Amino acid sequence: MSKNKPKNDSKKRTGVFICHCGINIAGTVDVEKVSKELAGHEGVVFSKDYVYMCSDPGQKLIQDAIKEQNLDNVVVACCSPSLHESTFRNATKSAGLNPYQCEIANIREQCSWVHKNKENATNKAVKITKSIVEKVKLNESLEPISIPVTRRAMVIGGGIAGIQAALDIANGGHEVILVEKSPSIGGHMIQLSETFPTLDCSQCIMTPKMVEVSKHPKIKLMTYSEVQEISGYVGNFKVKILKKPTFVDPEKCTLCDECTNVCPVVVENEFDLGLTGRRAIYIPFPQAIPATYTLDINNCPGLLPIACGKCADVCEPNAIDYDQKPEIIEEEVGAIVIATGYDLYGKNKIAEYGHGKYPDVLDGLQFERLLSASGPTKGKILRPSDHQEPKEVVFIQCCGSRDPELHKSYCSKICCMYTAKHAMLYKHHVPDGQAYVFYIDIRSGGKNYEEFVQRAVEEDGVVYLRGKVSKIFQNNGKVTVWGVDTLSGKDIEINADMVVLAMAMQPAEGSEEIVKKLKVATDKDGFLAEAHPKLRPVESITSGMYLAGAAQAPKDIPEVVAQASGAASKVQSLFSADRLQHDPIVAVVDEDVCSGCKLCIPICPYDARIFDEEKGIVTVNEVLCEGCGSCIAACPSGAAQQKNFTDDQIYSMVDIILKGE
Ligand SMILES: Cc1cc2nc3c(=O)[nH]c(=O)nc-3n(C[C@H](O)[C@H](O)[C@H](O)COP(=O)(O)OP(=O)(O)OC[C@H]3O[C@@H](n4cnc5c(N)ncnc54)[C@H](O)[C@@H]3O)c2cc1C
Repeated sequence: MSKNKPKNDSKKRTGVFICHCGINIAGTVDVEKVSKELAGHEGVVFSKDYVYMCSDPGQKLIQDAIKEQNLDNVVVACCSPSLHESTFRNATKSAGLNPYQCEIANIREQCSWVHKNKENATNKAVKITKSIVEKVKLNESLEPISIPVTRRAMVIGGGIAGIQAALDIANGGHEVILVEKSPSIGGHMIQLSETFPTLDCSQCIMTPKMVEVSKHPKIKLMTYSEVQEISGYVGNFKVKILKKPTFVDPEKCTLCDECTNVCPVVVENEFDLGLTGRRAIYIPFPQAIPATYTLDINNCPGLLPIACGKCADVCEPNAIDYDQKPEIIEEEVGAIVIATGYDLYGKNKIAEYGHGKYPDVLDGLQFERLLSASGPTKGKILRPSDHQEPKEVVFIQCCGSRDPELHKSYCSKICCMYTAKHAMLYKHHVPDGQAYVFYIDIRSGGKNYEEFVQRAVEEDGVVYLRGKVSKIFQNNGKVTVWGVDTLSGKDIEINADMVVLAMAMQPAEGSEEIVKKLKVATDKDGFLAEAHPKLRPVESITSGMYLAGAAQAPKDIPEVVAQASGAASKVQSLFSADRLQHDPIVAVVDEDVCSGCKLCIPICPYDARIFDEEKGIVTVNEVLCEGCGSCIAACPSGAAQQKNFTDDQIYSMVDIILKGE
């Protein structure tokens, strides 16, 4: 194991600082013993334990020792480096030592928290700390890599999350490109009727924000557009955006609607989720931004050669332009906010509930459209099958959520609230009707949320039944629901007029593709993963990319708006510096040893490996490199090394662990 191992520079003076972390470490590890053992280790000239090393007195202890003991390097044995590495490196720097001469020995997550036997845990803590002492002796003093920053941002997704983030960044004085894949911004919020818990009209609070986006001098709005390619790194991304042709010139269009009157094609209207139809040339909804028509190339009888042309014939201002072509627009931005939102779990996913098969079985968003004054029934609750007012409606929660065996294991979080809203609004529209809600538990955590659910029960007489529904089927013009009430232990059969399913929320359709292009991580359910679940909830693990809205997890509007503003403020703080600092712990290549085999190129997840044709070797783009070490493991000749994680350092550490010295 000690092959190629150079002699450690034993003249280097190392200080070791062992943190008790209250009883988090000291409860399982004999910290005094660790300190004593380390004091006798080669090169260690100072060793001390302290109750909270991260506290001000703890940091001062380290700084004083650096100066008084003339230390060359420092090891702090404490919690994970992801929590306090920067704290101790900053403290080291303030005492005049290069911060990369400070290393963390993780004796909490990797030792005290996972062991019960104090003697064994103490021995392990000693080994871990000694191994890090061996590593730090060979550390190089490094300087952060300085990179320029382009102070423009791109926001992907024009729902409430993207709109809020774009407005906040733009109001902070920076240019924003807002990219939305559909013909209008607004996302799902613009489809909603009234919103819990205040029951204010969704469109009334959303449309002013949409207009503000369209008029904002710092926002470049690109609807019907998608990110096609992205390269670069934090502060310096290059993006290619595909702008699809709408075949209508918005400058000339007067919104007279003559084109839709003559268009012979009728297809499902996505905005009304199939409850109405639309023409092949259409405006998604009356308040759409931009306010113009789109010619849907997939459903138009034909453009090349023109097979119909009726819309162009009646368009007086000549706004129809069949010659429009897709355009690729290149932009440079310094930061990206991803706000691609959610979709509901697919229609046919729960066959036993008959969604997509029985016309009077709807999902929550379809019911929102029925409730909406701008919806297919102008706000009247009418059954899709016969346009009669339903007198008994069953609402079913957790359709596909909290079902790890068959569907999604997670809770979709907002369904309890919107189902209470649906049942309540139904009763407001049909006072002599009866609403039933099947639920597993009611989760109404949020300001005024519990009171809202209670109101549905107490004031509107909604009947809540605790239990699951096993089957829904059509029966003599009714929709029969078989379920069980687990509180009374009775089987329940309701011959309802309509059923509304609270389907699980899932990442928006196509999000896998955009995630791959952006190279951001997702969780097991495909939602965007945050850099740290508690401490960095709006950052992705890729520097310069931030998360907002339901693309990260199911969320309601207040939470989405708060997170979007959080992401925007992160972007603004990134833009506040003249230059950015990149961690210098990156891969390096020994040019004399590299054979140019290129194995490292496809392995690098950050595209940081580049083949230098002239030299016949593979080099590293230090700014793109995130120091993950994949290329080092893959390099067959050992030409690739990671700064401060060299083979020699790893061998020294392993020697300590194996020999127990
Ligand atoms: C039935 C129902 C009722 C609800 N009622 C309420 C309520 O009363 N109160 C409340 O607080 N919340 C309610 N909600 C929740 C609310 O809908 C969400 O919190 C909110 O819409 C999430 O906003 P968002 O911007 O994150 O996502 P979305 O609204 O989904 O917007 C995402 C946007 O990104 C676009 N997009 C997706 N992928 C791409 C891509 N690759 N490139 C470019 N653009 C892309 C989409 O087209 C869309 O415009 C309800 C939800 C449901 C299902």
